[in-house]
Parts: sequence; structure tokens; C-alpha cells
Amino acid sequence: MLLAIPLLLVAGPCGAWDTPSHQRITKAALDTLPERYLSRFGAEAGPLVEIYCMLPDRYLEMEQYGFVRKSPGPRSAAEIRVYCVRPDGLVMHGVTGGRDADTGSLVYLLERIVTNLSGDRPGEAARYAGVLAHFIEDSLSPPHAVAAEELAGMIPRSAQAGSMDIHAAIERAMPGFTLGDRTQRTLGAHLTAAAEAILDQCLSGAGQNRRDLPSMVIAACARDEQALNSYRLRAGVNAAEILADALGTVMRMSDR
Ligand SMILES: [Zn+2]
Repeated sequence: MLLAIPLLLVAGPCGAWDTPSHQRITKAALDTLPERYLSRFGAEAGPLVEIYCMLPDRYLEMEQYGFVRKSPGPRSAAEIRVYCVRPDGLVMHGVTGGRDADTGSLVYLLERIVTNLSGDRPGEAARYAGVLAHFIEDSLSPPHAVAAEELAGMIPRSAQAGSMDIHAAIERAMPGFTLGDRTQRTLGAHLTAAAEAILDQCLSGAGQNRRDLPSMVIAACARDEQALNSYRLRAGVNAAEILADALGTVMRMSDR
């Protein structure tokens, strides 16, 4: 389904899901992969959840602000540029609203995962898979479904005097969850079809978030974490399902 949505801004540091939220979505997706697929990542499955799904944020933090996290992981932007930036210079972080650019980024990431898995380079494959995870996850981050001004316009007049950061209040602290014993869907027989399917599902989820954002803003202003959690979880489950299907699809393509 095609949805006309406004430009989704590429998130800066602290501009989308926080680190635990990204990790929880990525882990929920990996937990549904059949063991024969998960084992293709070998010992890199752990770092994929802990570190690699954060590579796009860490790249931006280091590249734009020179900020290096104390936690394990990359120490310089140059070290991870190859995973986060396409050869033509486009940064891969989340949907931008440009269909050709976004399809191209997804095809690129899927192709790098397939090629590196086929070449028995699980560390490389896992790093590209981490960027793919982040791309899908940020695309499903509710405040990213609209432009910043539109989000600000949803805040009730009575709440505007407060110092609350509505954007951050909505997308932090997603509760942990699992996808249970969900059956995987194949997203396409080739990379372009898979990329198109991933993008369509991201846009569909973003459209759903956009429709519910006014309710989320009201819940955030009321500090109603229970109501916010239901939206956070819906977005997180959606992102994890898309990621699980994407990884399952490229695993099948790279079967030797
Ligand atoms: Zn991000």
C-alpha cells in the first residue's frame, strides 16, 4: 500500500528510539529466526543486538558531533562509514519519503547481507543487518511519521507551557516483548521485490502511527505510560515482524 506521508526526517542522535528500544526490537526479530538461519551469524548475533543495530545513530554522533560512546562498539565514524553510507554518499538511517532512494538503500543493505553471508563473512553481514534493523525501527518510530512542526502543533494549548519533550516522551522506553512462535513470511523472490515489500510495510506502519499520533501526544502530556506503551509496543512488534521477515528472506536467498 502506498501512503502519502510527509518527509520523515533522518534522526539525529537521541532523535528516535532509545538504545534499549532498538535492542529489544532487534532481539525479538532474531528470536523468531530458525536456528539454522540464526547460526549463520555465529558469534555476531549478540553484537548485532547489542551494538550493530545502533550503528546509524553512532555514526551520526561521531560524524556530526565527535561524540564517542563509552559503551563497547565503534570508536570512529570512519570505522563504520562503509555500513551506514552508500557508495553514492547517501546516509542510510530510515525512510526519507523518497521512494527510489529508500528502495535503493534497502536493496543495497539486503545485497550486502546476502553477499557477505554467502562469502562466509558473518561479521560483515551482521553489521549490515544491524543498519537494516535500525532503518526499519526508526521508520516505525511514531514521532517520525510527521514533520517536527506538525508534531508540535498536536500539543494541546494547555500543555504547551510545559517543558516536556513530546518527541522523546513518546519514543523512549519501549517495554520488552516477543513475537511468540510466529510464522515467517517471505517478502519476495529477489532483492528488489523484498526491498519494495519492506518499504511498503514501513510506510503502512508509519501511516498507522501518523493517524494515532494525536492520541499519543495527549497520552504523553497526561504522562499516561500505559496508553503510550500500547502504541510503542504496536510499533515495535510491527518493526520486529518486518525485520524478521526481511532477515528470513535474505537467509533463504543466501542458502548454499
Ligand atoms: Zn536513529
